[in-house]
Amino acid sequence: MRIALFGDIHANLEALEAVLDDASQLGVTDYVCMGDVVGYNADPSACLERVREMNCPTIMGNHDKDASATYSLETMNPVAAAALEWTREQLSDDQRKWLSKLRMVRQISDYTVVHSTLDQPGNWNYVSNRFDAMSNFSYQFTPVCFHGHTHVPRVYMKTDKVTEVAAESIIVEDFAKYFINVGSVGQPRDGDWRSCYAIYDMAERRIVFRRVEYDIEKTQAKIIAAGLPPMLAERIQEGR
Ligand code: ZN
Repeated sequence: MRIALFGDIHANLEALEAVLDDASQLGVTDYVCMGDVVGYNADPSACLERVREMNCPTIMGNHDKDASATYSLETMNPVAAAALEWTREQLSDDQRKWLSKLRMVRQISDYTVVHSTLDQPGNWNYVSNRFDAMSNFSYQFTPVCFHGHTHVPRVYMKTDKVTEVAAESIIVEDFAKYFINVGSVGQPRDGDWRSCYAIYDMAERRIVFRRVEYDIEKTQAKIIAAGLPPMLAERIQEGR
């Protein structure tokens, strides 16, 4: 069983298609979506339908929740709010309903998936250091938990202490627990514009991060044509 864990797609269809192509070429058998299918970029409806037709476990991200609701976005940062207001208009009632029914946390065989952290997942806290990761581990009862939300791929490992491990590939050891950020498909923020996701090979107990190039100029042109804030087109190029 070889599982692709992909999320923070953020309505970037070119990136999503490139990641799914890459995964199928690598013999992936199962897919799990880590949430934030929509928001920021210009293809919310197409990305949602692409994920929905895969019928794979999909968990809710904060942008999925905000896009599916009607409450005011006044307190949010203005660029994200502008994109979400636009996104709400692009989605059908049926699509918003699908987003609103996504679950916050799922446990699938020996791993758990959550968008932000298992420590109060509905508060959408960011895990940016090992102390944030420690709070997650208090609620993590499987050897491995995958998450997203910061758009920065990371591995936190818990033995008698919690450490951040810099690696493109890790082996899941019996003596440790792992909390793994799979990065972002549609808006990476680690300075590398290429799409990021992870593959978990359960037989080999190996987790590998993948970076995939896509037609970013096409994505940028769509953002501008949609009238979305131009900085959204700039930031995907810069990976921030
Ligand atoms: Zn996100």
